[in-house]
This record gives sequence, structure tokens and C-alpha cells, in this order.
Amino acid sequence: MGGQCSFIKASGERCRGTATAQNGLCWAHDPANAEKRRRVASRGGRGKANREVAALKDELKSVITDVRAGDLDRNDAAVMIQGYRALKDLIALERQVKETDELAAEIEELKREYGVA
Ligand SMILES: [Zn+2]
Repeated sequence: MGGQCSFIKASGERCRGTATAQNGLCWAHDPANAEKRRRVASRGGRGKANREVAALKDELKSVITDVRAGDLDRNDAAVMIQGYRALKDLIALERQVKETDELAAEIEELKREYGVA
């Protein structure tokens, strides 16, 4: 441990990262971490946000249907739609934060790979 990563890049150049694992690979090239990163990325990510958007869409549709049928007061509907709009903004914000975090992690990985971290 502590030596130079033994990974050879597509360019034929050896990785300049510092080996962090017993197998002589840096964090970015250790297959154990690649698996971990993939799991983390697929767990939180876009699947949840997309489900939230789909649920929001369904609720909005039912509000519109109810107003049209006269089952829901127009003022109540207006307040509900305001709430949905706020939720939509939050989902969008959450997605932006997530994308920024993912980008930051990728940059860290690249920095490690090029030995500038
Ligand atoms: Zn490496």
C-alpha cells in the first residue's frame, strides 16, 4: 500500500494515483470501489425523483378532473395546485443538488487519477 497505482490507462500510460488497496490499485481503479460507487449512484438517484414527478402528475390530473366534474371547489383546487407547484420546485432543486454532487465526485475521481488531489 502507498505505492503508485498499477492501473494502465487506454493511452498506455500508468495511473499516477496512489495505491490505496492491497491489490495495488488507487481508489478510482479498485473494482471494489467501482461496485460501491455504482450501487450508491443507482440507489438515491433519478429513479426516486422520476417516481415523485409521476405521482405529482397523477395527483394534479385528479384535481383537474374533480374541478371539471364539480367535485372540488375552485379555490381549494387553486391552493392545492400552489402546493404541487412548490413540490415541483423542490424536486427540481433536489435533482440539481444531486447532479452537482455527482459531478463533484467525478471531478475528485479524475483528480485522483491524474495525481493532483
Ligand atoms: Zn489508478
